[in-house]
Amino acid sequence: MTLGSTLTPLTSTVWWAHTSDASDRLLRLLDGTERARNDRLRHQADRDRHLLGRAMARLALAQLAQCPPEEVTFDLVCRSCEEKSRTGADPGERGPHGKPVPSGPAHGWEVSVSHSGEWVVLAVAEGTPVGVDVEQVSAARDLDGLVGYTLADTERSVWDALPPLERIGAFFGYWARKEALLKATGLGLSGGCGGWRSARRTPRPGWSPGQVAAPRRRPG
Ligand SMILES: [Zn+2]
Repeated sequence: MTLGSTLTPLTSTVWWAHTSDASDRLLRLLDGTERARNDRLRHQADRDRHLLGRAMARLALAQLAQCPPEEVTFDLVCRSCEEKSRTGADPGERGPHGKPVPSGPAHGWEVSVSHSGEWVVLAVAEGTPVGVDVEQVSAARDLDGLVGYTLADTERSVWDALPPLERIGAFFGYWARKEALLKATGLGLSGGCGGWRSARRTPRPGWSPGQVAAPRRRPG
């Protein structure tokens, strides 16, 4: 089968917000479930990041679907619970949860939101799963432990050869790319991190989803 003539390039659009953009004016864009979740967050910084992510998703989808932001709705989809009900297992009693999937006028678009530190990022794609991740680079975390868990063998060799000063930034580059792919597949961290490698040998800013290799098992 030849796919070449029927493939169209996959594109995604990325929006950024800074936590200084958070404003009570945006609260009107959240639905009841999102408002309740926002109210439950204890720290103002968490409320601001959550608010910006939800508001930005509605504004971006409204622009793309050419409808008022108030008309954009989301269904919450949990792959794990879907799988349990498919196999007859009891998913248990839980409140609304799962990944927000656009519905209503924005049906057919997919979104992914990530926040870290002062930044909130949103990626939107049409008709294809999308994942995005932002990570605040921090020297405080247990890098050696995380590297062993996160990087494939070939990535580890590249990382080990880097000058010590470049290692922290490089690690978070790998981490963000893998996290983004796991979010796109819907597997989350249960999908594992070290069993596949990202395509570019050294992480650099400006990476795009097309540069990640498909998940695959590490030999042996
Ligand atoms: Zn679930």
